[in-house]
Amino acid sequence: MPKAIIIYGPPGSGKGTQAELLTRKYSAVHFDTGRYIENLVHSPEARKNKILSRERKLFDAGILCTPSWVLKITRDEAERIAKAKFHVVFSGSPRTMFEAFGDKKNEGLVHALGRVYGKRNIIVVKLDIPEKESAKRNGARFICSVCGLPRLSSVSGNHCALCAGILRKRVLDDPKVIPVRLREYRERTYPIIANMKKMGVSIKTIDGTPLPYKVHEKIVRAIKFS
Ligand SMILES: [Zn+2]
Repeated sequence: MPKAIIIYGPPGSGKGTQAELLTRKYSAVHFDTGRYIENLVHSPEARKNKILSRERKLFDAGILCTPSWVLKITRDEAERIAKAKFHVVFSGSPRTMFEAFGDKKNEGLVHALGRVYGKRNIIVVKLDIPEKESAKRNGARFICSVCGLPRLSSVSGNHCALCAGILRKRVLDDPKVIPVRLREYRERTYPIIANMKKMGVSIKTIDGTPLPYKVHEKIVRAIKFS
């Protein structure tokens, strides 16, 4: 049975890396909702479509897109992936209680995943790393300015190992921003995880401190793909 994996963790815990590793191993789809929305509002059809051009204006101004719209397109895409019988991997999303559980008028993503994958096939992977480690990793994080690949902590040099593009720092990884992102993570994500636990969704807490390939092995054991 295909599974829906939701990876949560503080900044620097390696959510994106772990999602990519799972994607490669199991031919799963890594559903990066942020990137999906960005591509959608910048697609050629967006110019002709009223709703998409409205959302594009919000997106380009750095304002959050309309939550009910984000939820709907996320749900639709998750359904398409499920119908194609692929595992889906989310990293860091659903981000808000609304996105996860919706309201009277909007079905939440978790309920939609339960409907198409079956509740027993939803697994939350919670990557834990100490806050000090999170700050340290983010302070040392560089991103390739061309392909967006993060530099691995053990590799040195100013160029990307994949495409040799110049490495840059992300504004997001500014040491002053890290405490805010850590607090955001605790305040936004913990209630979502608690709610899913109440629903009977399986939560796997994994130590995210070791090297990525070791964390990956632990996740694979915890998830028991079949
Ligand atoms: Zn690169």
